[in-house]
This record gives sequence, C-alpha cells and structure tokens, in this order.
Amino acid sequence: MIEVISEARCIDCGICVDVCPTNVFDADEHAHPSIARQSDCQTCFLCEAHCPTDALFVSPLSGPAPEGSPLRDEESLAREGRFGEYRGWIGWGHGRTPGSRNDRNQVFTLRLRALRPPEPAAPGSTTAEKEGPRP
Ligand code: SF4
Ligand code: SF4
Repeated sequence: MIEVISEARCIDCGICVDVCPTNVFDADEHAHPSIARQSDCQTCFLCEAHCPTDALFVSPLSGPAPEGSPLRDEESLAREGRFGEYRGWIGWGHGRTPGSRNDRNQVFTLRLRALRPPEPAAPGSTTAEKEGPRP
C-alpha cells in the first residue's frame, strides 16, 4: 500500500496522479501530490515504477503500516534506500539494467527446448518426398 511521498525528492511532475488506476492521489494548485484516499490503493506499484525521481514508497503490506512503523518514516526509508525500490528492481530509471535482461526464465526455457527431441517432419515436407523417387 502507498505509504510515503518524499517531500525532498518530489518534483511535482504529476505522473503518479495520472497513472494511479484508483485515483489515490490529489494534487494541489502546484501539482504537488498528496495521498488522499490511501484505502483505495491496490498495491499495484505503478506510481512507484513511474516516478522519475524515486520519490514514492509503496510498502509490501496489504494495509496501512502501523503508527510508528519505519515504513511510514521518510528519513528511515531514505536511509534504507527504499524509495523507488520496486522501480529499481524492474530496472526502470537512468543507469539501471532493464529487469527483462536479468530474467533467468528464458535460460530455463531454452534448456528445456534443447532437451526436447526434434518434432517429426510433416508428411510431404522433406526434400526427398517432394522430389519423388530417383530414376
Ligand atoms: S511522480 Fe514522483 S516526482 Fe512526480 S509528482 Fe509523483 S511523487 Fe512527485
Ligand atoms: S500502488 Fe497503485 S493503486 Fe496504490 S497509489 Fe500507487 S498507483 Fe495507485
């Protein structure tokens, strides 16, 4: 669930307000966002993924973090490098490696394909069959 907007990092670009599918944020007259409807957050991480300055923290909890939790504390989150953490994992942002390049599933799939016996040729598809019997 969305927990914190970093006042120190936010540049008021309005992207989080636009991408949130459940309209969690409000923006003031300077386009500065606030968390207006936290209970509508569906923990989709879209806002965190799109924030260009890593100013958002969406906690992995399905409900609000309890009072006094470090998950609600901007200083603590900044110290632990948790702002934009999800965005970093998927490799979005300058200087990061796109997550798809680190995805090992493709290696697994290629290995499986290499182990599988070749598919039998369809009848009539081989050169010999097409050319017919030699004289
Ligand atoms: S996307 Fe990030 S920088 Fe832009 S308004 Fe939202 S919190 Fe601020
Ligand atoms: S995590 Fe998803 S639903 Fe929650 S505030 Fe961000 S964009 Fe909106």
